[in-house]
Amino acid sequence: MPIATSSVRRAVSRPKPSSAAPVKPGVFPDAKHDHGACVKSALQRAEDICTAKDVRLTQIRRQVFELVWQSHNPVGAYDVLEGLRDGQRKAQPPTVYRALDFLMEHGLIHRIESLNAYIGCAVPGDEHAGQFLICRDCGVAAELLDKRIDDAIGKGAKAAGFSIERPTVELEGTCAHCRRIKRGHKHRD
Ligand SMILES: [Zn+2]
Ligand SMILES: [Zn+2]
Ligand SMILES: [Zn+2]
Repeated sequence: MPIATSSVRRAVSRPKPSSAAPVKPGVFPDAKHDHGACVKSALQRAEDICTAKDVRLTQIRRQVFELVWQSHNPVGAYDVLEGLRDGQRKAQPPTVYRALDFLMEHGLIHRIESLNAYIGCAVPGDEHAGQFLICRDCGVAAELLDKRIDDAIGKGAKAAGFSIERPTVELEGTCAHCRRIKRGHKHRD
């Protein structure tokens, strides 16, 4: 079924992406994209945000950030720890968790509860709870940036007298790339 992207309505107040990142919110990255450019741009934005907030992106925080950004798949804390140990044998779990907490606190990464993992934010510096489309087949997670969803959830929770502690929306399914592969297999069978 073709997806009529032209019919997608755009909100008037649609936030503009904070920079010309190679991969944009709401888009699954192409398998052949230049991921080095994603990492470079993410690092630059992280540094700018830390400078603006007058907090330090220390060497360890930067390394953890780069490990979370190693791909567009959410990364577990254990994998971050293993990655750090490749460079410096003494890295301990509390060091990793402290760095992950710092990065989350400043909106540079998100935690994906359903996977017990972390992913780099596609639009850091722009306050949002975040919604993620997570592909069950390839594991890639694409961040959406639709403030209307955050607003609707906020309003509904407020009306219910509910205090939200984990506002991130996590949606599981299959990305277009994996769906194409599946369709191809079906045709060959
Ligand atoms: Zn990338
Ligand atoms: Zn985000
Ligand atoms: Zn996929």
